[in-house]
Amino acid sequence: MLKDMPRESRDWSELKQEMIERGGGDAKWREGKTAVYVFNAGEDVAQVQKEAYTMYMSENGLGPLAFPSLKQMEDEVVGMGLSLLHGPVDAAGNITSGGTDSINMAVKAARDHAFANNRIEGQPNIVAPYSAHPAFDKAAKMMSLELRRVACRDDLLADVAAMEAAMDNNTIMLVGSAPSFPYGLIDPISELGDLAEKRNTWLHVDACVGGYIAPFVRMNGADIPPFDFEIAGVCSMSADLHKYGFCAKGASTVLFRSEQLRQHMIFDCDDWPGGRMITPTLAGTRPGGAISAAWAVMNYLGIEGYCAKHKQVTDAREAIENGVSQLGFKVLGEPQLGIVAFSHPDLDVFAIYKQLYKKGWFTSLTTDPKALHLMLSPFHLEVTDIYLADLRDAVEAVRGGDTDTVTEARYS
Ligand SMILES: *Cc1c(COP(=O)(O)O)cnc(C)c1O
Repeated sequence: MLKDMPRESRDWSELKQEMIERGGGDAKWREGKTAVYVFNAGEDVAQVQKEAYTMYMSENGLGPLAFPSLKQMEDEVVGMGLSLLHGPVDAAGNITSGGTDSINMAVKAARDHAFANNRIEGQPNIVAPYSAHPAFDKAAKMMSLELRRVACRDDLLADVAAMEAAMDNNTIMLVGSAPSFPYGLIDPISELGDLAEKRNTWLHVDACVGGYIAPFVRMNGADIPPFDFEIAGVCSMSADLHKYGFCAKGASTVLFRSEQLRQHMIFDCDDWPGGRMITPTLAGTRPGGAISAAWAVMNYLGIEGYCAKHKQVTDAREAIENGVSQLGFKVLGEPQLGIVAFSHPDLDVFAIYKQLYKKGWFTSLTTDPKALHLMLSPFHLEVTDIYLADLRDAVEAVRGGDTDTVTEARYS
């Protein structure tokens, strides 16, 4: 699709107006009607994100010698992540552009670690639960690895015995989620850790959506099982700053149990005429703003701020759980964090979804089992009553025979 560039410069105020108008048809997340894609932690946090981002918007994380400020902020953000997730003293990590990036880099490190130890004799593979994120499929595809997805148990958690049966000598990584995106449930990471130690295999915990909420929900008193570096078999973790860390988009952390393991991620190239280039993650140029905004938000909120925001998230989730149960839905498992999915014993949830969509709600669906899916923000606590009222109407419409529905659950 081609588009002519305007010959002459256009006025910024006019462009700005046009951009505002273009957003008019987008999901109404500012009203709290979106429970996917966006994390709304309030105006004050948004202001910190914005100002801190623009302060270092032009600086480049590729050049730590030129911008020691960014290197220092990155180290401190990673340090805070590691300390929240029980990293041992020698633990290390980096900021990446997002969860997919973090997962790709962890897979690359695990693969190169396995190669360095001469463990692989054929096609390397990754063993992951059915509920693991497609970022692992992407990583496997890009690095010509085989991904073996293993069906979950009836309670929708990773089936560790079945995963063990799917392993062989060419398994370079075991995966567990804390929590999985579709179900919002934390896999039995300590059992996976035992398996990883027994088989001397790399265990990655995908805490993209849980890493910056679970520690605070535990501090708030919930009984969150061990899921991080506290478990000896965990070699690496992914934890997204731009999700429940409430940081600006384009920021995640990839974390390793030791600096020695992190070394397998780093790419060091000297074979060109431009000078030696050492890049820890996939990116060359790295947006300084994503790093500086992460640093600012973490320091702005602090432990008390995150505990308070995440109390709102879990309060919203509990209100939703109670409300949907009264409407006849069945919550999948026992969610403890910010994601909740719920199925209906006799109505088609895809049709219920369509009714909610027509009222301006933009949320998600799961396919197996079919369920409505919400990823909640602090702001949602203010709109749970509205959601539940609209859900009640949606249920009545579908029960009354309205067959309008979506045909597919998809993200593109
Ligand atoms: C969001 C998510 C990812 C991918 O993160 P992106 O930032 O969207 O690339 C991976 N795993 C889980 C469990 C997630 O929730």
